[in-house]
Amino acid sequence: MNVLLFGPPGSGKGTQAKDLAERLGVPHVATGDIFRKNLREGTALGQLANSFMKVGALVPDSVTCDIVADRLMQPDALDGVLLDGFPRSVPQAEWLLGWLASNGRRADAVISLEVPEAAILERITGRRTCSQCGATYHVVYNPPGATCAKCGSNEIVQRKDDSAEVVQGRLTAYARETAAVLPLLRKSVATHDLDGTGEIAAVKARIFAALKL
Ligand code: ADP
Ligand code: ADP
Ligand code: ZN
Repeated sequence: MNVLLFGPPGSGKGTQAKDLAERLGVPHVATGDIFRKNLREGTALGQLANSFMKVGALVPDSVTCDIVADRLMQPDALDGVLLDGFPRSVPQAEWLLGWLASNGRRADAVISLEVPEAAILERITGRRTCSQCGATYHVVYNPPGATCAKCGSNEIVQRKDDSAEVVQGRLTAYARETAAVLPLLRKSVATHDLDGTGEIAAVKARIFAALKL
């Protein structure tokens, strides 16, 4: 099953993705995580992506679609993936639907998490991220211990692009380039518009119910 997790930055996609991917039995593919991993490893892709990420702009479509195509061809992804943070522009969405179709695959469902902007700002500025495994926490809503609950690392940091200044750029990019993706996906993929507010466990229950899991 191929499922797309859609929503503005900070809407809880990464938080929900872990249990959902496990339940679906498919890998969690997050373009932001792939870019950050490349940056940590010092690759050319990481350097290029970072020049956009640090100002809150989208990485160019051609670069992003190429890395997604590579990932979707890996053996563990052939029977399905949970895509988190992709597609994020109309050209990316058109490319994805075309690519899936020409590879005999399809997008089965879209989960769209709706969260009002005031809550988004509070979520992003309070977010803390494990720089080893990408797990996210929140200083108030999901406080991290001294070490990461997922991988044991003690490198739980604030992402550079989670600063108040960069967040504004990311929200602008969302409004200009990403919001239009949802109406396009809706035309051909079963789309579930879900309330992304409330307890993390309550949001999870809504997602599982929508997908009949
Ligand atoms: P996204 O992947 O969509 O950018 P995250 O999953 O990283 O979003 O969540 C953003 C921040 O909000 C994180 O700090 C996370 O711990 C927190 N968060 C996620 N879901 C909720 C929720 N239901 N209530 C409160 N905070 C949440
Ligand atoms: P968030 O958790 O706030 O939604 P992500 O980790 O998904 O953030 O993305 C961080 C940054 O990575 C984005 O601001 C953007 O620069 C880049 N990025 C991630 N996914 C995409 C994409 N599909 N297209 C272009 N840029 C992307
Ligand atoms: Zn970790």
